[in-house]
Amino acid sequence: MLPSIDLRGVLVALERALLPPQCLTCDEAVPRSDGEALICAVCRSRWRRVAPPCCPRCGGTQSPGGHCGFCADWPEALTAVWAAVWLDDGARRAMHRLKYGGWWRVADAVAAGMQPVPLLSAPSVLVPVPLGPRRLRHRGYNQAECLAAALARHGGHQVRTDLLHRRRETGTQTRLTPEARTANVRGAFEGSSTVRGRVVLVDDVLTTGATLAEAAAALRESGADRVDAVTFARARPPATMLD
Ligand SMILES: [Zn+2]
Ligand SMILES: [Zn+2]
Repeated sequence: MLPSIDLRGVLVALERALLPPQCLTCDEAVPRSDGEALICAVCRSRWRRVAPPCCPRCGGTQSPGGHCGFCADWPEALTAVWAAVWLDDGARRAMHRLKYGGWWRVADAVAAGMQPVPLLSAPSVLVPVPLGPRRLRHRGYNQAECLAAALARHGGHQVRTDLLHRRRETGTQTRLTPEARTANVRGAFEGSSTVRGRVVLVDDVLTTGATLAEAAAALRESGADRVDAVTFARARPPATMLD
């Protein structure tokens, strides 16, 4: 659970009192003019945005013929995915902080750096990709939920953590091939019977789309009309996926 607004304010004040204003990704001092930023303006400016021309469905690089090998195998249930930046060193460090450093407030800087988000131009229902209970206990928070909450503060969106659940724990995807990732997450999610209308999945990183595709299929099966997804970063696909 994320702290309530009041507790959050107290924690932010406490953190500012205890810690020097220092960028979490480069360790340089953050000037007072940069406000509450935990990631300095220089680091944020180095995040490379995923820019057009690209596949309208997944934002990936298309072949000259207009074919996109990246999303060709995704199920129809996943309508469109948008990622803000490429997962280069700076973005990777920010995600590492968000995921393993316990710095759930990094989510605010990340959500600010993602703006504007085309798939969130209207108030939307955000569904963070859930962690399994074991990993949630170990980490203490779900980084996708932190990111969704931060995005919600930017656009009046609603975060719903009750619409999608993990049916089972899945091993880490980090070292798996694209095929193994798909097999690893098959049947991992279950949607709630109360899902209606359009929902937008939120996750930290888009790698092959296997997790988002599986989560989208579960939401559609439970009654969603349309499932889109937004992530902060996008991993560079292996060359074979661009054929
Ligand atoms: Zn920095
Ligand atoms: Zn595509």
